[in-house]
Amino acid sequence: MDARLDGRAVAESVRAATRQAVESFAQDAAPPALAVVLVGDHPASASYVRGKKKAAAEVGIESTVHRRADSISQDDLLALVDTLNTDDAVDGILVQLPLPDHIDPHAVIEAIDPAKDVDGFHPQNLGRLLIGMPQFTPATPSGIMVLLEHALDDLSGQRAVVVGRSNIVGKPLAALLMQRNANATVTVCHSRTRDLAAHTREADIVVAAVGRPKLITADMVREGVTVIDVGINRVDDETRERGYRLVGDVDYDAIAPKAHAITPVPGGVGPMTIAMLLRNTLQAAQQHRGQ
Ligand code: NAD
Repeated sequence: MDARLDGRAVAESVRAATRQAVESFAQDAAPPALAVVLVGDHPASASYVRGKKKAAAEVGIESTVHRRADSISQDDLLALVDTLNTDDAVDGILVQLPLPDHIDPHAVIEAIDPAKDVDGFHPQNLGRLLIGMPQFTPATPSGIMVLLEHALDDLSGQRAVVVGRSNIVGKPLAALLMQRNANATVTVCHSRTRDLAAHTREADIVVAAVGRPKLITADMVREGVTVIDVGINRVDDETRERGYRLVGDVDYDAIAPKAHAITPVPGGVGPMTIAMLLRNTLQAAQQHRGQ
């Protein structure tokens, strides 16, 4: 059986449902409006923002990119966020990370109106997620949950090991997996974990969100495991015109033969992230306009 869990196909079905819902929403209202703030000219960030804008347009969501120079002060950035918060024509706000070193990302995220926080990174939204009353769920972890639902009939009682404890992936994913509607038993591993392999070998589900190629090798997982590879790493590749290719954190070729399901990179979690962001933006518009 082919273990490949095709994130592009699953994401397309989520996007098709969103496209339909946006169409009916926009019949008697302006289309959902997303404001994207992009600071500086980090090439990966610029490319993510282009991808989000294009994907938004494809489902009928309007997006405006507010580009600011690297040199913008924190106060000016906070003022921009405040303008977007109070602009009634804006339903959702997203500040592309990372921000330049002189800006505190927490201060910026906290400044976003939680009702417009389509990334779900505001402490209020992360807190709501933790207590099982989610408003906006961060896109990558909610996309991973949709992928897991595709791969497995029931997560209840499954042993899930999440490798990586970031605020945008590892922590919210652990919260989602342990909620009553998922009921997995969750272990979170990180850079100080002793004997990572001892944990991953016991797992029914392994999620790698670290940023290190081939961190998870075939000897670290058991037969029948479901593996979600969140990592995005550039490795040199002279056969490619751009001189590199993208790989995840998992040794895909070695693990696929023993896995129940495994996501590729690219084409796994990445497309899901964008699809879930679009869904959150529609939700923001529905809530904002009282629909
Ligand atoms: P991060 O970069 O903020 O932190 C990395 C995490 O890995 C930390 O929690 C650290 O404790 C852990 N870690 C580091 N070395 C480790 C080791 N040897 N063993 C176990 N854990 C270790 O995390 P992030 O922002 O969640 O990003 C992780 C990866 O996921 C990156 O490659 C990033 O590009 C990618 N990512 C992809 C998507 C997507 O949509 N596909 C979204 C977000 C992040």
